[in-house]
Amino acid sequence: MRVKCSQCGAGIPVPADTGLLQCPFCDTALVVDAGDTLFRVVTPPTINASGAVDHLRRFMAGTQTVADLDAKARIGDPELLYFPFWAFRIATDAGEQVVLEPAAPSSLQGMQKMTLPPGDTRSWTDDIGGGTPVVQPEVPQNTARQWMVSRLGEVQVLRTVLYHLPMFRFSYDYRGRSYRAAVDGVSGQVFPADFPAKAEAPFVAVAALAIGVFSIEGLIVSNLLLKAVVYCVSAVPILLLAWWISRKV
Ligand SMILES: [Zn+2]
Repeated sequence: MRVKCSQCGAGIPVPADTGLLQCPFCDTALVVDAGDTLFRVVTPPTINASGAVDHLRRFMAGTQTVADLDAKARIGDPELLYFPFWAFRIATDAGEQVVLEPAAPSSLQGMQKMTLPPGDTRSWTDDIGGGTPVVQPEVPQNTARQWMVSRLGEVQVLRTVLYHLPMFRFSYDYRGRSYRAAVDGVSGQVFPADFPAKAEAPFVAVAALAIGVFSIEGLIVSNLLLKAVVYCVSAVPILLLAWWISRKV
């Protein structure tokens, strides 16, 4: 099989099953997929390992996760790797935009909705990052394109490239369980696979308690002024309980 370099136009002989290659004439990194020869690009990381840990800790201290996660989680050393995406430049009513779809299977949350982080995008070279593991693309561009169309509807694709994004992969322990997450090495965005979420049951219990207490008081006390005083007094321990639970859960 013979493909044409997208950069210099030279004919390059390739074995039929070769997906990733480098033009022997101009060194441009290419990917052959579904009859197309497309550019293969990368944005080098702008965040180091300790910066990635900071981003993960900020996520852990946020409102989605259990209250003491950032204090109690034991975070393992991050592993940097390059994860592949198909990057589709599309024309929309609001102008051009780039949509990313994962080009390899992943259990990380949010990867389907991620946007291209601003950074210095350049042609892929195998020596980038000196031995950093590279996740191989397994999802064909047509499959990724169908995912995009199922979310956005039929769109006009102006350009498609295979994009390698540096990600820090983490695992951490919390209360005897192990969890995983990844941090985008350019934007710092956190993609959790799973995480210890805030439990809702205690908040529902407090709300039920409040309704119960107020309706009983409403039945017992008939004087309006007295009723207001009783409500105010009983609200104090209920609010304290709610505050205490929000600190603990
Ligand atoms: Zn070339």
